[in-house]
Amino acid sequence: MSNELLYSGKAKDVFTTADPNVLKMVYKDQATALNGKRKEQIAGKGLVNYRISKLIFQYLMANGVETHLIENVSETEQLVKKVAIVPLEVVLRNAVAGSFARKFGQEPGKRLATPIIECYYKNDALDDPAINISQATALEIMTPAEIEVIEAQTKKINDLLINLFNHINIDLIDFKLEFGRYDGRLILADEFSPDNCRLWDQDTHESLDKDVFRLNKGDLVSVYDVVLQRLAKILGGSADV
Ligand code: UDP
Repeated sequence: MSNELLYSGKAKDVFTTADPNVLKMVYKDQATALNGKRKEQIAGKGLVNYRISKLIFQYLMANGVETHLIENVSETEQLVKKVAIVPLEVVLRNAVAGSFARKFGQEPGKRLATPIIECYYKNDALDDPAINISQATALEIMTPAEIEVIEAQTKKINDLLINLFNHINIDLIDFKLEFGRYDGRLILADEFSPDNCRLWDQDTHESLDKDVFRLNKGDLVSVYDVVLQRLAKILGGSADV
């Protein structure tokens, strides 16, 4: 069946298409925090996130990272490969922020000697608990070989994105990725937008990401638009919101 709502997430809806191997992902005008406990409708958010994620996925693909993106069909809608999502949120940190600052009593913004990769088990009912490699392999969520692939891909994506954001005066503090199984391979899925990363302006150190919503520090769409305008300047593409 085509155009059936398959899954409604916090920031996107996913629909079936006529092709069983292809899904349609629609970015929503909704912002959530506290694992969905706080929810707000914000006009224009779907569009700006769609555009940022599109530019970043295209940049990653042009640099050899395989992703689920097939094509962008209309404003806020993308066709993607139907993957089996691995139920792990893979977080990479270049500097201290958020839960890591709270957990280890560290100063936000402090550079880490080496990037950290953390995994969380994707399960809203359990509030996405932290999971280590031994737990993830014992629960057969991942094989050790797959974990190696995910870590290598995550580090490669980090190197590419640090370089990209450096060119537009932004520090990539941390981010979250999701991977899916497709045709026997692990490929990057979901999205990359200021909803799931921390981006700090290199001069002002102000947040250009979802912390403006989490901490009520300003208008989300105009802040995300700063990121989009800077990205569009070096990557091209439509930047009107
Ligand atoms: N993150 C995310 N989804 C989540 C949890 C975290 O996209 O469910 C992102 C978050 O935006 C940040 C990074 O992962 O860029 C690290 O988040 P952290 O563990 O510091 O948690 P937070 O402070 O966001 O609760």
